[in-house]
Amino acid sequence: MDFTFDRSIQEKIRSVSSKCDLEYWRQVDQEGKFPTEYWNCLAESGLFGVLIEQKWGGMERGLLDLALAVEETSERYAGLGSYLFLSGCLVSSIISSHSSAEMKNELLPKLARGQLKISIALSEESSGLDALSINSKANKMGEHTYSLSGSKAFVNNADLADYLIIFARTSEINPSQKKSFGVSMFLVEAYDPKIKKRKLSKLGMNFVNSYSIDFEDLTVSESRVLGEVDKAWRNIVGIFDMDKILTAASLIGTGRLALSEASKWAKKRTVFGKLIGSNQGVQFPLADAVAQLEVSEGMTFKAASLVDQKKNFGNEAAFALLSSATATTAATDRALQAFGGHGYYKEYNVERFWRDVRAHRVHPVSEELLLASIAERSLGLPRSY
Ligand SMILES: Cc1cc2nc3c(=O)[nH]c(=O)nc-3n(C[C@H](O)[C@H](O)[C@H](O)COP(=O)(O)OP(=O)(O)OC[C@H]3O[C@@H](n4cnc5c(N)ncnc54)[C@H](O)[C@@H]3O)c2cc1C
Repeated sequence: MDFTFDRSIQEKIRSVSSKCDLEYWRQVDQEGKFPTEYWNCLAESGLFGVLIEQKWGGMERGLLDLALAVEETSERYAGLGSYLFLSGCLVSSIISSHSSAEMKNELLPKLARGQLKISIALSEESSGLDALSINSKANKMGEHTYSLSGSKAFVNNADLADYLIIFARTSEINPSQKKSFGVSMFLVEAYDPKIKKRKLSKLGMNFVNSYSIDFEDLTVSESRVLGEVDKAWRNIVGIFDMDKILTAASLIGTGRLALSEASKWAKKRTVFGKLIGSNQGVQFPLADAVAQLEVSEGMTFKAASLVDQKKNFGNEAAFALLSSATATTAATDRALQAFGGHGYYKEYNVERFWRDVRAHRVHPVSEELLLASIAERSLGLPRSY
């Protein structure tokens, strides 16, 4: 792979991201408030339109550009905040590839300008990784309408979203069909009074509120089905793999941010009469994390450029997410260690990176499931999930 690719998108966003510094993110985390100023900066810079065609007001660039942007904004203080908001760009891919001309006209220009928030509601209390076991149902009522009933867990931003993409079964699991058959995607107005929301409290990622939602007899027009009825899984699986790549990019940026803070501290903190950074016991774990993040970045960029070349990228997406989650877990942990007791206090920010990063050993896919899929695809071992 040629690593001399165009990185101009990173320069474009540097000035934007630095407006929301570490102090800003610390306050957002502590107050648990949505980072509107950051969202507006992303919107002004056009970043929500990276994947959207120019005719809809987008930048019409590829996933590698988006991964570069996500990594850069994460490293420039947003940490995992950048992933969460820029992964919203993937929603634009769903709309671009799987909606009617009318919906594209209506939604894509607003998405490109950052004027719409759309959240994904797939996971349920009893089906997270085993996503095809969802119990939410969509029954056809008359010719052009569906009625949705069910509940969803871990829906990000359900309080501020304009729309939710709700996954529901339109056909029961049938032994004569693949389990993936029968799942459909619906674009639903998030503020429909029939959607009852319950706020969840969580360990980190406090810049976005998460909800469980319940809905009963929610009426949705057939025109709001995204992709083909019963075949949503086939439509969405590649986009979920792209999500792994963006998560990896954000993790790498967050890991680098943690290491940068730790090395600044190690250059000024004196213990036993010498700088802690002059001890190999402090240096080596940080240096090891630098190397692991570089390796993960190579795989992440490879996976993203395979997407842009329209080649198979599922394995590389899994390698990128697994290696970056491992590398960033080590980076943030060792950064916190280098800070000593100070690292445990919010003032120094590293505890936030450490908390936030933990989510990505289970979301969007757990490390066990990544390993199980690698064992199956790369080693030909029996499928274990
Ligand atoms: C911060 C955060 C944000 C999220 N955002 C969203 C969102 O926006 N929309 C959404 O729909 N969902 C979201 N989720 C849900 C997330 O995708 C699920 O939590 C995740 O898929 C794991 O599912 P689960 O929690 O049900 O774990 P389970 O599926 O119950 O798994 C529990 C544990 O068992 C292990 N396990 C299960 N089967 C096997 C096996 N065969 N071999 C080895 N180990 C196994 C898993 O690896 C895991 O460690 C979010 C979660 C988090 C933490």
